[in-house]
Amino acid sequence: MPINKLRYGSKIGIIGGGQLGRMMATTAKHMGYRIVVLDPAPDCPAAQVADEHIIANYDDMDAIEKLAKKSDVITYEFESVDLDAAKYLESLDLLPQGSELLRITQDRQHEKEVLVKNQLPVAPFKIVENEEELRDAVTQIGTPCVVKTCRGGYDGKGQFKIEEDSGIDQAVEFVKKNGRCIVESWVKFDKEISIIFTRSQDGEITYFPIAENQHKDHILHTTLAPANVSSEVINRALASAKAVAEGISVVGTFAIEMFVAGEEVFINEMAPRPHNSGHFTIEACNVSQFEQHIRAICGLPLAPVFFHGAAVMINLIGNDVEDYLDEYPLAHFHVYGKSEIKEKRKMGHITFVGNELEQLKQTILFK
Ligand code: AMP
Repeated sequence: MPINKLRYGSKIGIIGGGQLGRMMATTAKHMGYRIVVLDPAPDCPAAQVADEHIIANYDDMDAIEKLAKKSDVITYEFESVDLDAAKYLESLDLLPQGSELLRITQDRQHEKEVLVKNQLPVAPFKIVENEEELRDAVTQIGTPCVVKTCRGGYDGKGQFKIEEDSGIDQAVEFVKKNGRCIVESWVKFDKEISIIFTRSQDGEITYFPIAENQHKDHILHTTLAPANVSSEVINRALASAKAVAEGISVVGTFAIEMFVAGEEVFINEMAPRPHNSGHFTIEACNVSQFEQHIRAICGLPLAPVFFHGAAVMINLIGNDVEDYLDEYPLAHFHVYGKSEIKEKRKMGHITFVGNELEQLKQTILFK
């Protein structure tokens, strides 16, 4: 398929109107594009900054058709896009990312199978559908291990950790309730990192600096960049990212979350879209993960990535959003425009940028 270079004024359709859609949209608006968002919530974050909003469910095929008619190109802000809708948009040459990246990342089994096929490092795992398979898997993998639903889990939802063999009965109930699951060995990691890259439609790849992620209650809380890891780990993470990018023909911005144990790196999860742990790129790089994504889907050349040296990104979760201005007057802040504060809901984020990470951390602590 020839690459369609979309000039400013063209219309980008975005499936999903959350904060990632909003940040894609604001970036695209800076670049002169027009935006139409598909989301069922009338006042969703992305609709507040878009030119048009189709209020409908993501799998409403009439709405998808309407979106297709209005858009010169279509992208999405989450991976659980209805696969039939994605295939339909692909058949119209409107979805440069294609439907395959969605098929793979919607399902932990597909994701792991692709990684194994490409000889990439993952924690030992087994797919199970019933009690017998679960008991066999836990015997083979050993404890501690974690059982995750193959579809639909995020931020630690849809997971059950088996600390020792006595926990297996509860895990049996979990599998009975949730159906097909993956059992994974529990990795005693030193750090969690993520690597975010962008691949253009003609195969050019740029990488953002590898970041280190700290979670609270399974939700990303803080991202530090650059990750404090050895050059061996950096090389392994980069090599894995390149292999994924080329192995599954990624287009757009893509994120890979990894565990680091000593000098070893294990891929945990992948997302075919900009990622929370890449928000620091908005202020800390010459080009953000969102701008690179828009460039890729619009057929523009990618920008070479330069990093200003150090960044700390902190999510504003639930009530955190109330007093960030008093607490951190020097931060770059982003508030997503969600109508209601809820516990554990990502309401916004703040980013600090500096030249050197240790110095920047001190500045934040002793503001
Ligand atoms: P996930 O939904 O797969 O990203 O998992 C959420 C979090 O649970 C991860 O960021 C890790 O902190 C932890 N976790 C998930 N799987 C494993 C594993 N196999 N070993 C150790 N920690 C894990």
